[in-house]
Amino acid sequence: TYVVTDACIRCKYMDCVEVCPVDCFYEGDNMLVINPSECIDCGVCEPECPAEAILPDTEAGQEQWLELNATFSAQWPNI
Ligand code: SF4
Repeated sequence: TYVVTDACIRCKYMDCVEVCPVDCFYEGDNMLVINPSECIDCGVCEPECPAEAILPDTEAGQEQWLELNATFSAQWPNI
């Protein structure tokens, strides 16, 4: 799965949301998150992010972001 990280905070370009084939982005107060259980790991969103905030969760140090994306996608509205 892919995860949204802190570079997204206050970005809100939303280019990633438009390209996601399964609509698994969720919108919080100041950043977006990806629902890890809905993401099909296609990778289409990663190059669309102008803030380079979207990374594969397999990269080192992404465990905390995976947890945050999972938690907040359950609480925030789907976009
Ligand atoms: Fe959506 Fe694909 Fe990005 Fe997952 S990797 S959030 S399915 S565009």
